[in-house]
Amino acid sequence: MSNQYVIALDQGTTSSRAVLIDHEARMVDFVQRPFTQIYPQPGWVEHNPQEILFSQLGSFMELMARHNLSANDIAGIGIDNQRETTIVWDPSTGQPIANAIVWQCRRTAKLVEELCSDAATTELIRSKTGLLPDAYFSASKITWLLDNVPGARKRAEAGELLFGTVDTYLIWALTGGLVHATDPTNASRTMLYNIHEGCWDNELLELFGIPSSMMPEVRPSSGSFGQTSYPGLPAGIPICGVAGDQQASLFGQCCFSSGQAKNTYGTGCFLLMHTGDVAVDSANQLVTTIAASAPGVGHTEYALEGSVFVGGAVMQWMRDELGLIHTAAESEALAAAVPDTGGVYVVPAFTGLGAPWWEADARGTICGITRGTNRNHLVRAGLESIAYQVADLVQAMEADASQHIETLNVDGGASANNLLMQFQADILNRKLHRPQNIETTALGAAFLAGLACGYWKDTAELKALRATDDVFVCSMDRSQARKLLNGWNDAVRRTIS
Ligand code: ADP
Repeated sequence: MSNQYVIALDQGTTSSRAVLIDHEARMVDFVQRPFTQIYPQPGWVEHNPQEILFSQLGSFMELMARHNLSANDIAGIGIDNQRETTIVWDPSTGQPIANAIVWQCRRTAKLVEELCSDAATTELIRSKTGLLPDAYFSASKITWLLDNVPGARKRAEAGELLFGTVDTYLIWALTGGLVHATDPTNASRTMLYNIHEGCWDNELLELFGIPSSMMPEVRPSSGSFGQTSYPGLPAGIPICGVAGDQQASLFGQCCFSSGQAKNTYGTGCFLLMHTGDVAVDSANQLVTTIAASAPGVGHTEYALEGSVFVGGAVMQWMRDELGLIHTAAESEALAAAVPDTGGVYVVPAFTGLGAPWWEADARGTICGITRGTNRNHLVRAGLESIAYQVADLVQAMEADASQHIETLNVDGGASANNLLMQFQADILNRKLHRPQNIETTALGAAFLAGLACGYWKDTAELKALRATDDVFVCSMDRSQARKLLNGWNDAVRRTIS
């Protein structure tokens, strides 16, 4: 039988995975290869692009070999990737001119401040790209490479160098150098892409001193990106789905239309709400970004995005620094051993508070401690702090979009915690849907590829595959929820002051 599967190449910040997905959207198997995190100086983070490539190729080939698959068995490949991470390479040799500058890297913070700190430039960038100027996005990372790698600027100006986010570099390598392309979701995270006009913005390219010849072609997220043509790899498999990780997860959660939202509970939390064909301006400093679209939509679709800096990481902290738990999973049983936190609140503002508070200088607090406070209360307060922060974000997003999120789709490591999910539903007074397959990022890439190559017919077919969710429904009376939320707001106020 041919075309039995689609494969997602799930290129993350710490590992590359190849995921085999069948027609019922089940994850049949995956192979994961970690790669080196390079920290050349405090605040700097790099990856070796070729190590990323080989970890991705290695996981792909091992998966194919393990299941005895040939090119004919694979209908298409979808790629989802860590966003913003910046690679510049010489297409005549395939050699990167330097290590990739990773999204977390802060080396260009000063550069961004110099170029964009005045109100007019900030507004220019915000209005064109939907982003607030920051070193996080690709633009200043490219500038840094051109200015600091000997000879790079001259070579770039002569048209001898290419830029890409990780998706683009992988596509270029996988197609044997034939395709230099990205998709709108990745482009929208570079701070160089005009999300309203759907093109690289010449004014911004000029501001950052980046020759337009370096920039990849932007193709629809679900559509052709060429086919595999790499020595030793099965040839001729279509690459036909591409999205940045968070947008891939939104798509994998079947959030295809306005008002649908997902939250990923990982180290941090990422909340994205689909806003249809409207690019919503945020009054709460959330970012406006492009959502991945199914084929045939015919217009750009947008999303609002916000993040919680410390999500599941509060459990890591309770495990590694406080020694309150042995594993993150253990937090559920400990928290369930008490009916509530006994009035204790943990505000994990380790690196400041994000939306809607935006207090960069705030630091964490624990308040409401009494002589009766024990380990269970603290762990429970830690878990609840994740839900409160997400609730604040949901509220800010709904206000921005003038829309009510009826059902929150959840995924990520910490979404496995039933107590946390129930508390989230209670505090938000919303339904939560947790899919059986919480690998929604890989699933989103697979969906985008599968739709493009006809493996699945349409988004209705994809939705029908989601029948077996776990559902969490609010069971807390509103006066109790209000009381708890007042306590949280009070704790946040103390944190800020
Ligand atoms: P990432 O992709 O950001 O590395 P994951 O989605 O793998 O993160 O989720 C891991 C995070 O979730 C960790 O911070 C961990 O502490 C937390 N976590 C994992 N399982 C649980 C659980 N059962 N309860 C609470 N937190 C959890």
